[in-house]
Amino acid sequence: MPSESFRDIIYTADQEGHRKWVYAIKPHGRLYNLRTLVSVFYLIIFFTLPFLKLHGEPLFLLNIPERRFILFGFIFWPQDFFLFAMAMLTFLVFIIFFTVIYGRVFCGWACPQTVFMEMVFRRIEYWIEGSAEQQKKLNKQPWAGGKIYKKSLKHIVFFAVSFLIGNTFLAYIIGVDELFVIVREPIAAHAGLLIAMLGFSAAFYAVFAFLREMVCLFVCPYGRLQGVLLDKHSIVVGYDYKRGEPRGHLKHGKVEENNGDCIDCHLCVKVCPTGIDIRNGTQLECVNCTACIDACDSVMEKIHKPKGLIRYASENNIASGEKLQFTPRMKAYSFVLIALLGLLSFLMVTRTDVQATITRVQGQLYQKPDSLHISNLYNIKLTNKTRKDLPVHLQLEDIDGDIKLIGDDILVKGESLNETTFFLTLSRNDLDKMKMEIDIAVYSGDEKIKTVETTFFGPPK
Ligand code: SF4
Ligand code: SF4
Repeated sequence: MPSESFRDIIYTADQEGHRKWVYAIKPHGRLYNLRTLVSVFYLIIFFTLPFLKLHGEPLFLLNIPERRFILFGFIFWPQDFFLFAMAMLTFLVFIIFFTVIYGRVFCGWACPQTVFMEMVFRRIEYWIEGSAEQQKKLNKQPWAGGKIYKKSLKHIVFFAVSFLIGNTFLAYIIGVDELFVIVREPIAAHAGLLIAMLGFSAAFYAVFAFLREMVCLFVCPYGRLQGVLLDKHSIVVGYDYKRGEPRGHLKHGKVEENNGDCIDCHLCVKVCPTGIDIRNGTQLECVNCTACIDACDSVMEKIHKPKGLIRYASENNIASGEKLQFTPRMKAYSFVLIALLGLLSFLMVTRTDVQATITRVQGQLYQKPDSLHISNLYNIKLTNKTRKDLPVHLQLEDIDGDIKLIGDDILVKGESLNETTFFLTLSRNDLDKMKMEIDIAVYSGDEKIKTVETTFFGPPK
């Protein structure tokens, strides 16, 4: 194995701790083309999702200030918070499980930071400022006509794209209809939201124009977790040092007899967006973007050696040629994941659009309206999670009796709560004990929404 001293330095900072700007060469190759396709699909989803509706409702809404969440058409209320938390927990376990087996595939292929940085902002940079080498030269030039023009154009386009992302981000929070209202109405009427949107845009601009790989190296908590999650069986982007070492330059266009396949051309380092040398081994800075795989494959092709000197592999796979193993840790994570998925599915299936709780009014044991009947006073709380107004009526199950509302008929407005009080009167003859369990069905029209169990008190027998 190579020496571990590389772990004592940060590739993106010099000895004095100043930032070393990464000028990554644009990758070319099979995986980069595939990542481009995946990213196009990803970006289409990201920018269109807030516009999609199901039965007049957004398909996706994360309205944190009003605590209203819609995930794929399912409306979640604060009362459903446990469901939301369970979904988040399942997602977290999924990420952990996935990372244990597949390493940082998510970072390279699906993380918004990588997708926007590598597939949008860096491409804009290549388009305006030219190749990595041209960018380096431009930065060394004095501030004059050409440089001012290119830099201004780049930063204007960067801010415009960040503004678009900021608006889309806001649409995920407040909904696209609300966003259009803000756009149409005078600025002063929505100053707070405008400031929020400009804040998002400025944050995205700062991340993609200046912070860049620093987000993956120092900010992202998922990146920090890699040291705990990865083991020797995890799939990572790895350099096959058994095949590549000892490395050495070509002599007369050929690999020297006692050398490995690595010709020390540094192309894998030059394409790396985090500036590392993957030949040193798995490093926290590697976001598994696969650029070095494509770069090295192109070199292998030119020197007529088999591709895959840098490839997706586990450490064991490289060290001993072992195949991927399903380790006890992977089995444990799978078990927890399946259990959580089962519980989440059960909770989603049994979740209702209308929630009803019936409780007896405190301090009122029972009333005797006449010598033949006993009444109890109840409170009913109804939560309508849909957008439709629901007329509701109550009906006793398994016992005869009379339900009399105090006030008007119950109408629960869409997305709101309703609280009503009612008397339930039963015949004394039907009371076989002091405290009885009774079921009250809650109907909207002919549809029974749910049956609520409560208790009825009568005089001692
Ligand atoms: S691109 Fe391949 S051959 Fe060139 S330095 Fe990297 S590992 Fe060695
Ligand atoms: S080492 Fe390779 S896979 Fe890892 S970040 Fe650098 S280029 Fe991407």
